[in-house]
Formats: sequence, C-alpha cells, structure tokens
Amino acid sequence: MTLEGTNTYLYGADPCVVIDPGDDDPAHLEAIRAAAAERGGVGTVLVTHSHSDHTTGADQLGAPVVLPEDGEEHGGLTALATPGHAAEHVVFLTADGVCFCGDLVLGLGSTIVPPGGNSLAAFLDSLALLQARDLSLMCPGHGPWITDPEAKLVEYVEHRMMRERRLLAAFDSGERSRAALLTAAWDDVPVELLPMAAMAMEAHLEKLEAEARLPFDLVE
Ligand SMILES: [Zn+2]
Repeated sequence: MTLEGTNTYLYGADPCVVIDPGDDDPAHLEAIRAAAAERGGVGTVLVTHSHSDHTTGADQLGAPVVLPEDGEEHGGLTALATPGHAAEHVVFLTADGVCFCGDLVLGLGSTIVPPGGNSLAAFLDSLALLQARDLSLMCPGHGPWITDPEAKLVEYVEHRMMRERRLLAAFDSGERSRAALLTAAWDDVPVELLPMAAMAMEAHLEKLEAEARLPFDLVE
C-alpha cells in the first residue's frame, strides 16, 4: 500500500502545466524545473488534492498553485471533482481520454478512503464518473500508469463491493462488534495493516448507515 514517491507530470508546453509536484525534495524539484524549461517554463502548478506528499514542493516552482474546482480548465486540462480519498480531490482530463487521477486510483493496490462525510459513497460515485468516460490511460499519483482504465475501475468498484458483501454477511451471521466484523470481513489483511482496515471499515459502516442498512444493535 505504501508506494515509492509521488508521480509528477508535466503537460503541454509554452508554458507547461505541472501536476502534483510532490514533496520538497530538492533533486526532484530541480528535475521538474529542468524538464519544464524544455517546455517553455511552468505556467500553472495543479494539485489533485491537498495531501503533503503531492503539494509540499508546489510553491517552489515560481508559478501559481491551483487546486481547481469542478469544471475549471487549465492549460488544456479539465478538472473533474472526484471526492473520496480526500473531499477536495479532483482529477485532470485531456480532450483525448487521458486522466491524471491523483490518488483516486493508484497504479498498484487500493487507495485509502478515510471515513467522514460519507466518503465511501462519494468515492464510488467518483469511480462511476470516470467509468462513464472513454478513458484510454490513467496516470496515477503513485505507481505505474494504468493502461486499461476500464478494467482497473471495475476492479476498484468490485473490491469495495466485496468488502461490503462480507460485512453484510457478518451482520447476517450475528456479528455486532467492530472487532468481530473486522476479523470477518478483512481476514486476508496482514496484521500490520489492520489499523488501515479498521479505518476502511468505518467508511463502509458510514455508507451503510446512510443507506439505513446498519443493524440497530451494532456495538463499538
Ligand atoms: Zn493523498
């Protein structure tokens, strides 16, 4: 689940747009400046969301830093609001079907959807928005490029639905404590990742509560 570094992308030229500059590692920032110089400099720095591993270096590139609203256009990219991993998360779409998807979808493994504000329902809606587009490529904030967006999006939706089915099955078999539910629905998770799984479970419980599908006698 922990992937090495944040992917930074440069798009367009004269000037270019920088997407998710990453942290303030001097060598990384220097590499961005050098690559941007070959593209006529940096016009705008775009960030997909406010997490520090995507943004700390942003104000060191000598260009405005923007976390756009839904529908805003910058340098040939259109922002699409995709809450879930973070409430303010956006992805950037090109006219020809490329999506710079930040941490909404990762190149490897599953992304974190922390509970709060019915984030999991929002996350699934965000995935559906991308499924409705004819994407040819997704470039994530971490991990390798996703060359089959359709398959990856199905995998992402199915992964969450699998957890939900397992939670509902645990309810059906009478489990009511969070510890027992976690064991039942996340039994494939290594012990060091259980705190993350517990957080994921809270997001599921929040979604089920909003849908009035939570047992009334659930205990802490
Ligand atoms: Zn993030």
